[in-house]
Amino acid sequence: MKLIDPIIEFHHELQSIRREIHANPELCFEERETADLVAKKLTEWGIPILRGMGVTGVVGIIKNGTSDRAIGLRADMDALPMQEINTFAHASRNDGKMHACGHDGHTAMLLGAAHYLSQNKNFDGTVYVIFQPAEEGGGGAKRMMDDGLFTQCPMEAVFGMHNWPGIPVGEFGVTVGPMMASSNEFEVIVKGKGSHAAQPHKSVDPIMVAVQIAQSWQTIITRNNSPIDAAVLSITQIHAGSATNVIPDNASLIGTVRTFDLKVLDLIESRMRAIAEHTAEAFDAKVEFRFHRNYPPLINHAKETAFAVEVLQSIVGVEKVNAQVEPTMGAEDFAYMLQGKPGCYVFIGNGEGDHRSAGHGLGPCNLHNPSYDFNDDLLPIGATYWVRLAEQFLKPQ
Ligand SMILES: [Zn+2]
Ligand SMILES: [Zn+2]
Repeated sequence: MKLIDPIIEFHHELQSIRREIHANPELCFEERETADLVAKKLTEWGIPILRGMGVTGVVGIIKNGTSDRAIGLRADMDALPMQEINTFAHASRNDGKMHACGHDGHTAMLLGAAHYLSQNKNFDGTVYVIFQPAEEGGGGAKRMMDDGLFTQCPMEAVFGMHNWPGIPVGEFGVTVGPMMASSNEFEVIVKGKGSHAAQPHKSVDPIMVAVQIAQSWQTIITRNNSPIDAAVLSITQIHAGSATNVIPDNASLIGTVRTFDLKVLDLIESRMRAIAEHTAEAFDAKVEFRFHRNYPPLINHAKETAFAVEVLQSIVGVEKVNAQVEPTMGAEDFAYMLQGKPGCYVFIGNGEGDHRSAGHGLGPCNLHNPSYDFNDDLLPIGATYWVRLAEQFLKPQ
């Protein structure tokens, strides 16, 4: 592995930054102390910053030379609303909040790159280091864009990275095209007419209608959607009634839809609505249909992905970069940035959990697990990737 020596020498500092962030997790749009820490470090290193985009977002601006070319590198800063069960010294000090997705490590890796780039300006142009809030459901990427990220910081391309358990340390995974899914939520309320359960003929039973809708919706995946296009329609909650002898007025169906393609999503949403409305009509019931689109699918651009793969291969070797990693039905709001600018998002291997120190809880080392911990061995690897990506992208002509 060809890591950058001064970054390796800076590992101890990066590890203590990472652990400080881990110990002080903050949720969506509340990343005040984390943002302060990021801003303080960037300022200490002489990097001009912009603050306030997306409420708590921070952007560092590292310029060199005369070129007006620019690249964006993005990390996320937020934690999850869950209780950490680790007992090591840097475990969460904030009850019910935890860095279980490794965003503490993302922030530290990008700070490591910013530190090096501010001292070793082997590039011609501008590197924007973007620290965004609220990846975990809050759409912080979108909020930063709405607040002018790409107009105040005009960049040609933007790149993202996520630590990924199960991929060995020192290896990367990436793929061109869809890599993560769109995430969407629905809530459908079937409005019938309640009655005594012994007099069902006086009711419009919403439970029977809800059950018909639930069954019929599965035919959207098997009969309407092309078998080539991946899609998930999961009903995760059905609620109705409160007594054994009462037919309730209403029943609700709640769940999620995941797709890699917005056309597939359009099809599924419109078929869900049609089936719900027409089934209700057939039974003299009514429906309230709510479908909320969260994050769009994350789609890596071809040219920038080929470029990222080349840079990764130059650091860890050809055989350590899986350029056709299997996409996941998980979602990620970096997808918005890739709608606004060309770019690429990669997985950096977090290993199988061997890094877990004493005091680390039991359980698999999975993202969003209460015993998760970012692997500090990744800090110089990820920071080196960011630096080489920027240097190659802004190579002096
Ligand atoms: Zn997460
Ligand atoms: Zn995450």
